Amino acid sequence: MTRSLPVTLPSLPGELLSSWISRHADFYGVTPLTMLRHGLPEAVSLWTIDLSLTNAQANRIAGMFGVSPKLVRSLSFAGAPKVAHRFIAKSPIQRCARCTHSVAGRLPILQSELQGWRITCPHCGEQYPDKTTREGDRALSPYRAAARRGETLLNNHAERRVETWLAPLEIARLLLMRRIPWPPPRDGDLWRYRLLGAIVPDLDAILARQTSFPYSPKHPILPLQSRPALLAGVAIVNHAGPPMLKMLQGHMMGDNKNRFVEATDHLVTPAIEWGPPQQFQLI
Ligand SMILES: [Zn+2]
Repeated sequence: MTRSLPVTLPSLPGELLSSWISRHADFYGVTPLTMLRHGLPEAVSLWTIDLSLTNAQANRIAGMFGVSPKLVRSLSFAGAPKVAHRFIAKSPIQRCARCTHSVAGRLPILQSELQGWRITCPHCGEQYPDKTTREGDRALSPYRAAARRGETLLNNHAERRVETWLAPLEIARLLLMRRIPWPPPRDGDLWRYRLLGAIVPDLDAILARQTSFPYSPKHPILPLQSRPALLAGVAIVNHAGPPMLKMLQGHMMGDNKNRFVEATDHLVTPAIEWGPPQQFQLI
């Protein structure tokens, strides 16, 4: 059994497990992986324990630092559903200036700084600053309230596994599938078009100014500039219910459509009998 370390640094509210371990590593003058292996000799990376910490590992890390296993688990993403993993970045993608902690040594990393479904800091409620441009912000400002609702839906799913008729993180991934616009665009740049644009048309205008859009159901973490569109899309689909999925099917073709139908048909088929879809208003 690993003996407890003589000095334990307190974790910060919402800190990431690897950040807390790395701060101990700095304190003891070893590498972060060496620090982790003091309690878990078989560990291969800090990222792995952030994402998929087992109860047995939590118990051993808790013993090493002399804290409760519950605290250790709360610092990791181990409780998140698997689909949330795609939305968790490997390094900070946003930082709240108000909640940046000034502790000696390396800057701590908060879990929220890796969460690709957030537009606001969970600790103070401030919107994350988007350093790139305010253009997206302006174009998407009518969707701000819906985006906040979407953020809450995604967060409740990721952190507490709360699902509605369809898992919110799954809705977000589906909305990043390609769509065929009608009428076809003159420039033929079909790569720009996502299902999300059928619900949040202002997204098309934002993407029209970009030269690439490397985001998809596999890579669903959008930059802060366009993330409100995805969050609003989730809220709108969630509110409208399954008939909206049927509408979205009409924007797709070929294998892409087949994949979408396969993922959603069990929701759409019984829904058709429920009546016409609700209006696509912002909620
Ligand atoms: Zn904050």
